[in-house]
Parts: sequence; C-alpha cells; structure tokens
Amino acid sequence: MYGKRGDAQMSDTKEKVYTGGCHCGRIRYEATTDPAQAIACNCSICARHGLWLTFVKPDKFKMVCGLDAASTYQFNKHVIHHVFCRTCGVEPFARGKDPKGKDIFAVNVRCLDDIDIAKLAPKPYDGRRL
Ligand SMILES: [Zn+2]
Repeated sequence: MYGKRGDAQMSDTKEKVYTGGCHCGRIRYEATTDPAQAIACNCSICARHGLWLTFVKPDKFKMVCGLDAASTYQFNKHVIHHVFCRTCGVEPFARGKDPKGKDIFAVNVRCLDDIDIAKLAPKPYDGRRL
C-alpha cells in the first residue's frame, strides 16, 4: 500500500510542538521536535546532567517565559550557552551555533511535558572526543 506523495517524509519525522521547561516552572518554552531523535552526549557537561538533546532551529523554538529566571553557563570554547534555572537548577535547553555558524537550540527532551523517557533510546554521541 503506497501513500500519497509526501507521506514518506512525514512518517520519517514525528515532529510536533512540545511544551517544556525547568522543574519549578519559571522557565517555559515551546519546541517543535521529535524526541526519538535525541542524542545522549558523553561530554563533560552532558554526562553530568544526563542531557538528552534534540537540535532545533530558532523558528522551531519559542520562549514562553523565564528568561529573567535563567542563568547561563559556558565552558571550553564558550560556543554553547547552557541555560539553567537559578531557582531549581535544571537545564531545560542550551543555545549555540551549528557548524555553519547559524543559531541553534538544543532541547533537553527530559524537560518536555508528557514525555515517557522510558520509551526513548537516545543515540550515543561521542562529544567527549570533539
Ligand atoms: Zn526552575
């Protein structure tokens, strides 16, 4: 059974709009992403936080509230701004540049609402060696 043109592409990605944020709720955002595409990076900060990340372009990421509640942490080459809540300490996302120098958001899929993290199997990513 063949679908209509375009179906294949649509079935490849399960992107949809998710809401998410930090633990205490001060930082809230909306992101259009597919949590099944998440990576589990082994770099020094992702390993400590247990970050499972998907990467979305700025047009697929919208802050709802909480920029004033956030602080950022940078290390190494200071390319990535790790955004965390000053109250609860959770890092719901990061922002940085992709390899072409364009703005990109890294969504911590563990912080999305209504996600069953037991059903996710993020791909290992060897960020430690980069
Ligand atoms: Zn918080």
